[in-house]
Formats: sequence, C-alpha cells, structure tokens
Amino acid sequence: MKYDIRIVNANIIDGTGKKAFAGEVGIKDGFIRKVDRTVSGEAAAEIDAKGDALSPGFIDLHTHCAQDISINYLQQGVTTVLSGNCGFGYGRISTRITDIKGEAQDGKIPVMGPNFALLAGHNTIRMMVMNRDNRAPTRSEMEKMKKIVREQVKEGAFGFSTGLSYVPGAYSRTEEIIELTKELRGTKGFYCSHMRNEGAGVVESVEEMLEIEKGAQAPVHISHHKVCGIKNWGKSRKTISLIKKARKEGIDITLDQYPYTASCGTIQLLMPTYAGEGGPEEIRARLRDRRKEILEDVLEKLDNYYGNDLSRVVFVNCQPHPSLSGKTLADAAKLYGRKPDAVGGAETALDIIQANPVHGATMMVSHSMSEEEVEYILKYPETCVASDGWTVPLNSGHPHPRLYGTFPRVISFYSREKGILRIEDAVKRMTQLPALRMGLTDRGVIKEDARADIAIWNPEKIKDKATYKKPHQYPTGIDYVIVNGQLTLKKGKATGNYAGMFLTRKDR
Ligand SMILES: [Zn+2]
Repeated sequence: MKYDIRIVNANIIDGTGKKAFAGEVGIKDGFIRKVDRTVSGEAAAEIDAKGDALSPGFIDLHTHCAQDISINYLQQGVTTVLSGNCGFGYGRISTRITDIKGEAQDGKIPVMGPNFALLAGHNTIRMMVMNRDNRAPTRSEMEKMKKIVREQVKEGAFGFSTGLSYVPGAYSRTEEIIELTKELRGTKGFYCSHMRNEGAGVVESVEEMLEIEKGAQAPVHISHHKVCGIKNWGKSRKTISLIKKARKEGIDITLDQYPYTASCGTIQLLMPTYAGEGGPEEIRARLRDRRKEILEDVLEKLDNYYGNDLSRVVFVNCQPHPSLSGKTLADAAKLYGRKPDAVGGAETALDIIQANPVHGATMMVSHSMSEEEVEYILKYPETCVASDGWTVPLNSGHPHPRLYGTFPRVISFYSREKGILRIEDAVKRMTQLPALRMGLTDRGVIKEDARADIAIWNPEKIKDKATYKKPHQYPTGIDYVIVNGQLTLKKGKATGNYAGMFLTRKDR
C-alpha cells in the first residue's frame, strides 16, 4: 500500500489507557491503515515524531463552538467538537440541523477545522415554542417540543442538552425534561445537562439527573461538573459517590469537567432565575419594581459563592461599560461611585443588567471553586475532559482561558506537574471516553481502520499558556494535528488545510 502519510519514531498513547509504546502509523484516504513497530512501504509524506507522543486527536464533548475553523481548538490538539450544549442549540438561534445540512447541499459547506457535531438544545426549543414563559407547557406545546427533539435526533443530533440554571430552562419541571428525554429511547443519544444548581443544590441536581435517567430510560451525562460557592465546598464527595453507586447499579451516567477553579457565564446568574424572565423590557421593569427583593437574593449569592469578595467576579465583556472587560466587580462598584462591598457590588451588578439585559451582553468569570475539589472530580476514572468553550478569533474579547488551554493543561499541570493521573489516563479522558459517550466507534483510539484524527505532542513541553489575565495564548508543545488524514497543524502552525467533517449520530 502506498500511504499518504507515514509517521515514524512515535511514542503511541492509543487512547485506551494502555501503556505508551514505540511505533509507527500509516495513513491513507483519511484512515489509519497500519499501526505497528515499523510501517514499511511507500509514503507520499513522512513525519518524524522524534520520540514524541502520538495520540488520537482530542474529542471535546462540551463546547458552544460554531461550525468554523475553530483555530483555538486545533491548537490544543482537538479534532472533534460537540456543540449545542447547556440547552443552547446551534448558534443559539435555531437547533435545526437540517438547515445546516441544507446549506451544505447548496455548495456553501462551511470550512471546519475540527469535526463538528451537535446536540438538540432545550432552551432554544422551548423558546421556539413558548418564548421565555415561566410556566409548564400546555399539552400541545409539549407535543411541539417533542416533535422538534425527535426530528433533530433523527437528523443525527448526538443527544439532547439542557441548561436548567438558565432562562427559560430553569422554568421547566423535571417531568417536562423526562418527557422530552424519552425521545432518545432506542437511540444511542444521551441526555446531557448543565444542571439546575451547581452550588448549594448540587447534590439534589445529581439526584434529578438520576430521576431523569430512570423516567426516560436514556443515558445521562453531567456537563462541566463542579461545585460552585465557597460555602458549598466539599459537596463533590457526595456527588461522586452518588455517581459511583449509580454506575455500580448499571445506570449509564457519565460526566465531564474543565480543569479550572473559575467558571464563566452571564452576569444574570447572580440574580434569582425569576428575575430573568421575559424579554429585556420585562426584565428592566422587574428590576425597577422588585429591586429590593432581587437585591436580597444577589446579596445571598455574593456571600454563598464568594464570601463577599468582589474580586472573585471578573468581567469578560460588559456592553454598558466596555472598559470593564478584564476588571472585577469591585472595580465596577467604584466606577459606579459605590463602596466595593457586598451592597455596592450587588447594586452595581443590577445596574449593569438593567442597562443591557440581553443574554450575553455582560459575561463574567466567576472564581468560586476549590482546587482540591477540581482534582477530586478529575481523579474519578469516568470523568471526561471538556472545555465548555467556543470558537474565538485571536485577541477578541477577554474570554476564560479554558478556550485555549483545557486539554494541554490536564496533561501538563494535572498529570506531569501534580502527578494526580497517569498520562495515558489523562489522554483516555479526552479521547476514548468521550468517543464512547458519543457512540463514535471509529474515532478516539489509535487503531487500524479508525479515522485518522491524530495529535503529536511533546509530553515534556506541552503546556497551556492562557491565563485569566492573558487568555489569548495558544498552548505550546503540540506540533502536528491531523484531521481525517489531512495535516492541519504542522510544527504548531496552521497549514490552511481544513478537513473537519459534519458528524451525525449512528445507532450501531
Ligand atoms: Zn453550561
């Protein structure tokens, strides 16, 4: 066989957790055709890995990526992204997978860096059917929502996602979610959720996941598992033990996590969910009429989450005051002529929301997790690594560093520096485990006849460079990235050769 690419001198970490071994790989027509000690025969191109690690390209189960080149993912060695998470379907406008396919048929197929896959999103679907209403659906609304989920799953969505701490997801009761998740029965699709509460109520939220699994008889997956809020630290002991126990009983529950102690979301998360109901005008009116009562809730959250330390809230962007990007809630309070204390912070947060209540107008990085707990969740062998990031052009805005550093960070910081997991296990959590969750049998493992999605990196040099202060930095130590047999990154630089495919769920 004449190979398109032969990779020699590699230390193969195959994704299964098996010990790394020296070997060579032959690629042809987008597939890995040979994995052996040596691969002989002709090859159009050869890559000398110089003893570096060769692993499957990383698979990110939790993104909000666009169908795009997503260079910030390629640079991390990511070759597949799953989007439509947290209940927000594609583009946060429509989850209609057919629209995307339709586009492709018109010859306008978007150029994609990593392979791209989608989930049906509950928030988006609920808004399509019943706007942002804070109530249970009527019978006919329920039927409409079920039909949309059913169609999207049929069209190849990998599952159904919810964001139950966002509006309008937060207005849905467990029964509604169970009814909709039932549409996944008989498919390999999974229910995944940004749970209702990741702070004081995180244990009850995991219990709700198990209730949904039982009611819907479909696999469930916890997105970006974490415990937010200084006063809630320690609760991951209980959540992980619930997950362990359930798995022992044969319940298909899995989870993912990003390796950081800060989260990122809309500033409206500081308010109680009822306050975010309806459109911008309704939110504004409520903030005028019921300000005192809403303020009480914000104060409670500032105390529970941050111990009233306003420097733990950092703005990603702020439409009313763009100068606050990268600044803290304490800075914002001062800008508004207030004291940087709990009341000053809470009043200022409400003023900022009132100035622009559109979702996403003001995003914050929230430092409220404990390092010890992040490690505890990461050590659990079923935890997948996922970024909860999105496609970002270099130097645009002030995003969370997870958009640039998630995958290299788990290898460099948690495996190499801290030694809390073997490098082969770290790789497994970003390759085979997520592939299994998605039901992908031809990706996520280095084996013959698998798709040639490959990353070659130096285990000593791989490192995330993105920080909270300077997020726009690509990691180092990742030299080659191959997507569907095409060399996409060469010596750390994009080749302009983008070969990502649109993936759909296969129930085999
Ligand atoms: Zn989320």
